[in-house]
Amino acid sequence: MRILLLGPPGCGKGTQAKLLCKKFGWEHIGTGDLLREAMRKQTPVGLRAQPFVDKGNLVPDELVNDLIAERFAREDRPAAFVMDGYPRTLAQAEAFDGILAKVGKALDIAFLIDVPDEAIVKRVCGRWSCPKLGCKATYHTHNNPPLVAGVCNDCGVALVQRADDSAETVTARLVVYHKDTERLIPYYHARGILVRVEGGGEVKGVFGRITESLGKVCN
Ligand code: AMP
Repeated sequence: MRILLLGPPGCGKGTQAKLLCKKFGWEHIGTGDLLREAMRKQTPVGLRAQPFVDKGNLVPDELVNDLIAERFAREDRPAAFVMDGYPRTLAQAEAFDGILAKVGKALDIAFLIDVPDEAIVKRVCGRWSCPKLGCKATYHTHNNPPLVAGVCNDCGVALVQRADDSAETVTARLVVYHKDTERLIPYYHARGILVRVEGGGEVKGVFGRITESLGKVCN
């Protein structure tokens, strides 16, 4: 399957993408993760992206489009994948269609994980993740707490919070979401591939709703 996850910051795209990829063996492609890795390594892409990410703004379209085009131009490009956080603008959605068309593919489903703005700040400020390379497990103080507070279940390493998960930056990211990314909802709806999923409650419940919809689409 070729899937993308849409929704406001903190709606659980990353968590659901990881669960889907673990269950079905698909590739998880998260532009936020790719950019954070580039910023950590201070590559040219990372240095360009940093001021945008720090303020909660979108990085320029061409920067993320190039990252994704590179991944799909490679021989080992994924046949099945979950896009997490890309595309986020109409220009990116059109570029992504072109990238997929070049390799004779198209998206199967765009899931919109619906969470109201009022719930977002609380959610994002409770997010923690494992900093260990290759682990990237994510937790939430309310919805998905680790077994021992502040420690990764898998690695035993101290969990960290993202620099752009402050209340102030999240508010800026929500404004950007409503202005730019929400325009993708009618775009994918018009294609008949948009599936809206209630994103409230526990991680397991949301995952159940996503896999149930997948089952219906596949049958
Ligand atoms: P995320 O981890 O998906 O919430 O992304 C974190 C930050 O990375 C966003 O607030 C943006 O600054 C940047 N970013 C990630 N994906 C994109 C994208 N597709 N287009 C533009 N900026 C992005």
